[in-house]
Amino acid sequence: MKVLTVRQPWASAIFNGKPVENRTTNIFGAYRGPVAIHAGRAYEEDAIIWAGATDIRPVPVDPEGDAREMRAVIIGVVNLIDAHTGWSVDCDCDDATGWPEPNAWHGVLEHPRALATPIPYKGALGLRDLPGDVERQIREQLPLFCSKCGCTDDNACTPPCSWVPCPEGWPPLCSRCFA
Ligand SMILES: [Zn+2]
Ligand SMILES: [Zn+2]
Ligand SMILES: [Zn+2]
Repeated sequence: MKVLTVRQPWASAIFNGKPVENRTTNIFGAYRGPVAIHAGRAYEEDAIIWAGATDIRPVPVDPEGDAREMRAVIIGVVNLIDAHTGWSVDCDCDDATGWPEPNAWHGVLEHPRALATPIPYKGALGLRDLPGDVERQIREQLPLFCSKCGCTDDNACTPPCSWVPCPEGWPPLCSRCFA
C-alpha cells in the first residue's frame, strides 16, 4: 500500500465525496491501488468546497467538523484507479463535482474507507511506500477490501463481484479484478 500526505481539510474531503486529487506534477506515476491518506499538519484556513455545477456555491468544508483535530494522522484508505492531466483526452472526470482542476494532474480516487481510529504517522512528500507494520494497523480497522479496486462487501463493484481465493491468501482480489 502507498501513502500520500494531503493538507487538511482536503484530506478529510476525500472521505466526504472529493473524487480527484489535483497535483501540479505526476506524483502518481504508474501506481494503481490502495493509498493511505495521511492528513498533514497544515490546515488551510480559507478552504472552501465548491459543490455542483448547477449549484455552484461555497459550502462549509469539513462537514463532520473534525478535520482540524485530525492532523498528522492517517485517516483512511482510498483507491487510486487512474492518473491523467486535466487537458488530456483521457480525462472523464466529472466537472460537475467542482473538484477536477483543468490545469492539474488528476489522481482519480474511488472507494474511500475512513478509519474509526486515525493512526499517528509522519508524512513525506509524494507517493511513498507505507511501512508494513502501519499497513497492518490500518487493515485491522477496515473490512476486507480488494487490493486493486478497493471494493468491499458493502460497496461492491458493478456488476456485483465476489471474493477470489488467492494462493498466498494475500492480497485479496475481487472477481472483477482477478481477470
Ligand atoms: Zn480528470
Ligand atoms: Zn476489485
Ligand atoms: Zn469488486
